[in-house]
Amino acid sequence: MENKKYVYLFSEGNLSMKNLLGGKGANLADMTSLGIPVPQGFTVTTQACNKYYEDGLLITPEVTLEIHAKMAELENITGKKFGSMQNPLLVSVRSGARASMPGMMDTILNLGLNDNTVEVLAKETNNIRFAYDSYRRFIQMFADVVMNVEKRNFENIMDKMKEEKGVKVDTELDASDLIILVKKFKEFYKENKGEEFPSDPERQLIEAISAVFRSWDNPRANVYRRLNDIPSEWGTAVSVQEMVFGNKGETSGTGVAFSRNPSTGEKKIYAEYLMNAQGEDVVAGIRTPQDISRLEKDMPKVYGQFMEIVNLLETHNKDMQDMEFTIEDGKLYFLQTRNGKRTVQAALKIAVELVEEGMITKREAIMKVEPKQLDSLLHPNFDIDELNKSIVIAKGLPASPGAASGKVCFTAEDAKSKHELGDKVILVRLETSPEDIEGMVAAEGILTVRGGMTSHAAVVARGMGTCCVAGCTDLKVNEETKSFKIGQKVYHEGDFISMDGSSGNIYEGAIKTVEPEINGFFEIFMGWADEIRSLDVRTNADTPKDTAQAVKYGAQGVGLCRTEHMFFDADRIMLIREMIVAKDLDSRMVALEKLLPIQRGDFIGIYEELGERPATIRFLDPPLHEFLPHDDEDIKELASDMGLTFDELKATVESLHEVNPMMGHRGCRLAVSYPEIAQMQTRAVIEAAIDVRARKGYNIIPEIMIPLVGEVKELKYVKDIVVKTADEIISKSNSDLKYMVGTMIEVPRAALTADLIAKEAEFFSFGTNDLTQMTFGFSRDDAGSFLKDYYEKKVYEFDPFQKLDQVGVGKLIEMAANLGRKTRPNIKLGICGEHGGDPSSVEFCHNVGLDYVSCSPFRVPVARLAAAQAEIKSPRKK
Ligand code: PEP
Ligand code: MG
Repeated sequence: MENKKYVYLFSEGNLSMKNLLGGKGANLADMTSLGIPVPQGFTVTTQACNKYYEDGLLITPEVTLEIHAKMAELENITGKKFGSMQNPLLVSVRSGARASMPGMMDTILNLGLNDNTVEVLAKETNNIRFAYDSYRRFIQMFADVVMNVEKRNFENIMDKMKEEKGVKVDTELDASDLIILVKKFKEFYKENKGEEFPSDPERQLIEAISAVFRSWDNPRANVYRRLNDIPSEWGTAVSVQEMVFGNKGETSGTGVAFSRNPSTGEKKIYAEYLMNAQGEDVVAGIRTPQDISRLEKDMPKVYGQFMEIVNLLETHNKDMQDMEFTIEDGKLYFLQTRNGKRTVQAALKIAVELVEEGMITKREAIMKVEPKQLDSLLHPNFDIDELNKSIVIAKGLPASPGAASGKVCFTAEDAKSKHELGDKVILVRLETSPEDIEGMVAAEGILTVRGGMTSHAAVVARGMGTCCVAGCTDLKVNEETKSFKIGQKVYHEGDFISMDGSSGNIYEGAIKTVEPEINGFFEIFMGWADEIRSLDVRTNADTPKDTAQAVKYGAQGVGLCRTEHMFFDADRIMLIREMIVAKDLDSRMVALEKLLPIQRGDFIGIYEELGERPATIRFLDPPLHEFLPHDDEDIKELASDMGLTFDELKATVESLHEVNPMMGHRGCRLAVSYPEIAQMQTRAVIEAAIDVRARKGYNIIPEIMIPLVGEVKELKYVKDIVVKTADEIISKSNSDLKYMVGTMIEVPRAALTADLIAKEAEFFSFGTNDLTQMTFGFSRDDAGSFLKDYYEKKVYEFDPFQKLDQVGVGKLIEMAANLGRKTRPNIKLGICGEHGGDPSSVEFCHNVGLDYVSCSPFRVPVARLAAAQAEIKSPRKK
C-alpha cells in the first residue's frame, strides 16, 4: 500500500520497516532504539525513490518539504544548524536498499560545507587542516557523484600538487596546501560545468539525494541485481546522517568490524581501523588498516565500549554483524550495522554454531545461508602434491577462500573480454572499485596490491564465492605497461599465476586443482535442510561418474539422463554416425545393434550408482545432423572411414540440414520416423534394469521419458513401441520388472493439452529450457547476444533461461500440472530444465506442488537448501 510519509527520523523507524527504510535505515532506527551511540538522522524511503523515477527523475516539492521538515527536527536533536555560521550541521547521504549491495551505489560525505561553514568548522575544531581536508573531499565526491565530473580530475590536481611539493602521501599536505587545493578544485569545477560549485546546503542535499536515487540504476548496480536476484522495483532508501569525523586528528579514527570472522566463521570479533581517516579510506583500501587489538592499547575505554556494542548487536540481531564505526575526539559512534556478507564456509559454521549456542532455531539457521553460495563450496582446491612443489612468489591477505589459476589481466575490461574468449583469468589491480564488477565476475581470482580484508575487492569476492588475495604489497604493479614486478622478476599480461585465497599465497604458473572436501558443518546443515524440505532433489546426469558425484552431494535420483550425451565420445560417435547415414532399415538395424551394448552398459553403471534411487532416462532428442561433420575435410575423412564416397556422405549431411533445427526433426519426432531407435533404447534400459536388479537386488523401476511431445497421439505412437518392446523382454526374461513411461512438457502445446497427454503419460518432467525457448519464441542458443540490450533497456531484468519466468512460462507449468493431476491424480511431476538449480525457480516449483527438481550435480546442494527455505516460507508438509 502506498505510504504518504516519505521521510522518517531514525527514532521513528524500526527493524520491521526494512522494505520502506532499506536495510541501513531500518538498522539505524533499531540501533537508536537500543541506545547505541548512533549519529542521528533521517531516512528518505524506497517509495520516495520509486516516486522519483515515476515523476521523471524529480524530487517533488511535496517530498522536498518533508525532507526540510526532518532536517529542522535533526537540527533540534543535534543542536547544530544546517548551513549556519554557528555550529554548522554536516551530514552524510548514503544509499540503503532492502538487500545490501556493498559498494554498488553512491555515498556523499561532509555535505553542508561551503566557503563559510568550512571556516566555522576550522575555528570550532581549532583544526584548519581537518576542515579543509573535509571540504576538498566533499567537493571531489559531490562533483563526481552528483555532477558527473570525474573524481580522477581532482586526483590529478592533487597529485600534481604533491609532486610540486615533493611529498608522497596526502597527509603530508598541510593546511595552507589544502586551502589552495580547494580553490583549485572549485576553479576546475567552474571551468568544467560553467557554473560555481553549489554552495547552498539545501540544494546540495536535494541534489545529493537525487544522485543516490539515480545510482540505484547505474550499470554496476544493475549487474549486481541481476546476479543476486534483486528486483529493480525495490528501489533504494537514502539515509541522511549527522557527520562524525574520524579524521580530526590522532584521537579520531574509523573502521569496520565483524562480530565473527567473515572468512572462516571463527567466533572472534574481527575488526580493523585507521586513525585519522574517513570511512572511504578503509573501504577503498588505499591505506592498509590496523588490527583492532591495537585499540585496546591505545584507547582501552573506547575498546571496552566497542566490544560491548559489537556483542550486543550480534545477540540482538542473532547473526554475524558487519559494522562501521568512527571515533571522534575519543568518542565512539556506530554508523551502521548489517548482517555481514561471508564466505560459504563461514556461513555454514556460523549458522550451525548459532543453533548450538541456542541463539537461533534450525529453521532460522536454514534461512541464513544463501543457497547460491553453496555452489562455491564445491569448487576445487589445489592438489596438495602439486602445491608443495610450487614456489610462492608473493603473499597477501587471505581475503576469500578457494583456489584459482589463470592468465594475468590488469583491467576489468580485459578480464571480461579474455573470459569471453574462453580464457581463465586472474584480475590483478592496485585496488578494485565498484566499476570493476564485471571483470570480477569474469575472473577466477582477484588479486589486489592494496587494501585489507574488508576492502571492496575482499567483500565483493566473498559475496561471489570468488577467491581473492588482498593487500599483496609484494607486487609492484605498473598498470601502464600491464605488468608487475616481484623482486627482480617481471610478469606480463597473459602470464599464468595461481593464487590461494585461504592462505594468501601467490604462485608462479598454473597448479592442478582437486575436488574439495566437504566438512562437518556442511553435513550437519544440509541434514537440517533435508529434514525440513518436502520437494525432492534429483540430478541431471548422463554418466555413472556424474551420477556418483551427484549422489555424494545428496541427489535422490536422476531426473534427466540425456542419452545422446553418451554418444559424444570419439569412439562412440562413429557408431551413431553409422546409424544416421544408414540408407535403409537393415543397415540402420546393424548400426543400432552395435550401439545397444554400449548404451546398456552405461545404464547399468548409472543404476549401480543409484541403488534404489529412481532414474528418468530420456530418449534421443537432438536433431541428427548435430552428430555429423560439416566442413568438407571432415566429411571426406568420415566418408573414407565409413566406406562411403564423399558425394554420398555430403548429400546425406545436406539432406539432414534444417533451417530451424531447434524446431525441426528432433525429440519424439525422431522416434516417429525411426521407431527402431526407440526400440533399441527401450531394450537397453529394460535389460540394464533387469540385470542390476538380479545381481544387486535393487528394486529398480525404470522411468522412460519421451521428449518434445506436443500432441498426445505422437506420445502414444512412441509409447506403444516402448511398451511392446519392454513387455516382450520382461516376459522373455521371466521378470516382474515394473516400468513407467512419461513425457517432457517442453512444447507449449503439451502444456495446453496436458490433461490429454496425462492419459498416456505416467509422469511429466518440465523441460523449461525448451519451454522457455518456445514460449518466448527466442532461441536458447542465440538469445544471449540480444538479451543484454533488453537488460539495458529494462525490458527484462533477468535471463529467463536462468531464472524461470514465473509470469509466462510458470503459468504454463502451473496449468499443465493442474491439468495433469485432473486426469491422473497421482501423476509424478518434476522439472529438469536449467531452472531446477536456481533458488527462486526451485521455490516456484515447491509452490506449484511439483514432486522434485532436477539439476546439475554441483547445484544439488543449492536446490536442497532452496527447497528447505521454500518449505519454511510456505509449508507443504502436514
Ligand atoms: C529442456 O528442454 O529443458 C531439457 C531439459 O532438455 P534439453 O535441455 O536437453 O533440451
Ligand atoms: Mg529439451
